[in-house]
Amino acid sequence: MASVFQALTKATSLRAVNGAGAEIQLEHAAIVELKESLRGPLLMPGNTTYNEARKVWNALIDKHPALIVQCEGVSDVMNAVDFARERDLLVSVRGGGHSISGKSVCEGGMMIDMSLFNSVRVDPEAMTARVDGGCLEGHIDHETAPFNQVTTAGIVSHTGAAGLTLGGGFGRVCRHFGMACDNVRAVEIVTPDGTLRHASHEQNSDLYWALKGGGGNFGVVTGFEFQLHPMNPTVLAGDIVWPGDQARQVLEFYGEYGNDMPDALNLNVILAGSPEGEHRTIVEAVWSGSPDKGDAALAKLRKVGKPIADTIAPVPYVRFQTRNDNDNRHGKYSYMKSSLINELTPELIDELLAVRRADGVYFIFFMQAGGAVARVGQQDTAFPHRGAHSNMMVIADWSEPKEPAETIAAVRSAWARLESYTIGFYTNLMDASEQKTHANFGVNYPRLVKVKNRYDPTNLFRLNANIKPTV
Ligand SMILES: Cc1cc2nc3c(=O)[nH]c(=O)nc-3n(C[C@H](O)[C@H](O)[C@H](O)COP(=O)(O)OP(=O)(O)OC[C@H]3O[C@@H](n4cnc5c(N)ncnc54)[C@H](O)[C@@H]3O)c2cc1C
Repeated sequence: MASVFQALTKATSLRAVNGAGAEIQLEHAAIVELKESLRGPLLMPGNTTYNEARKVWNALIDKHPALIVQCEGVSDVMNAVDFARERDLLVSVRGGGHSISGKSVCEGGMMIDMSLFNSVRVDPEAMTARVDGGCLEGHIDHETAPFNQVTTAGIVSHTGAAGLTLGGGFGRVCRHFGMACDNVRAVEIVTPDGTLRHASHEQNSDLYWALKGGGGNFGVVTGFEFQLHPMNPTVLAGDIVWPGDQARQVLEFYGEYGNDMPDALNLNVILAGSPEGEHRTIVEAVWSGSPDKGDAALAKLRKVGKPIADTIAPVPYVRFQTRNDNDNRHGKYSYMKSSLINELTPELIDELLAVRRADGVYFIFFMQAGGAVARVGQQDTAFPHRGAHSNMMVIADWSEPKEPAETIAAVRSAWARLESYTIGFYTNLMDASEQKTHANFGVNYPRLVKVKNRYDPTNLFRLNANIKPTV
């Protein structure tokens, strides 16, 4: 590290980019001062760990920040935010790095990397967890499990808790306990003016509301307090697999039963190819309710068609939560389209059967909503799509570098046939224009703009589902 800073002191300044995309110069004395103000590392091109630190989950993304601040505490975050604001530097914030469009890394700006700031403290009496801003979902599950308590986390354990929660947060128990954002009791955040603020029902309640679905628009979250719920650490979970010719039956069942099945049952559906190149329909089922009621809850699903496999069995929830980790490991290339649907109409099912692929170019994935997700009012949090049945995704991923044009074209062409059945999108999974983002937040947009105007009038935090300030 020393050599990079020595080299910097010989140069007069470092080239960087501001929020509007214009080139600016960062004085070396200011960078040295920033470095001295931090407990965590400050990385620049040339540092040995710089290339590793700038990588995000999706290998299609390859960006080079001028500076990476690896925050180890609130003070580091405040110093980084002050430095960036004073220079109007382009800023990205990295939690777990899972943004598929790569919003957590930037070209020429400052990446505020929260990954080293990641402890969780559970208060089993109060049934709350205090979670640092750089925690992964697996950190939360790991720490809450010994107390037979849980809060909603995503289905891949190395996803960042902050990014997932700020945009909403679906998971295997969201129908049971609400989305991740619904379980946030309080937030600690460094806002663009460099101030540490607390947001809850009692304090800065407008900001608290906006942070539950409004994404990374309002600053850097240094901590959340999550509500925990009692849950048996062993759930009934696994997959039921049907051959391709029974897909219609399964989708019809999922469409109808999905709306009124018990909250504690979660079904995610996959239309994929088998290793032999045949169509398969897979339902991942998780029963997180009382163990003695699980078989009854699953009975209807098990009567659909003639499955070729059924692996549903008692399994520790925390172990099941890591089952997709390797398939979704860092460094894979990924391209996807996704949006929410209200129902699986016969016409949508026809299209799904027409565009599904047995050759594995992409798979189609439905993540279920409903239950407790739907019982929160549309305007109670910034996340607007409470009535959705599922999040529908067309996902292509691959491990080796290759020319992706054909794969991307295949996903787009499938999506062109599915998109008209959707009702809006999940901002955590889709990158969209300002106009589409505005329309997607719907009735909640004007209130989000008010909060943005108040806390981030210069749009310092713009690499997100951006709410444009109007002041
Ligand atoms: C493999 C995989 C599995 C997924 N599974 C699920 C799932 O089960 N459920 C679900 O709902 N979504 C899921 N997602 C989508 C996920 O919610 C988003 O990708 C989310 O942005 C990930 O958060 P992150 O912190 O890992 O991302 P990052 O790329 O680090 O950050 C994304 C954005 O979040 C904001 N952000 C991150 N940290 C902070 C912070 N500390 N303070 C302020 N803003 C911050 C920033 O705006 C940043 O641009 C998945 C994505 C992937 C790639």
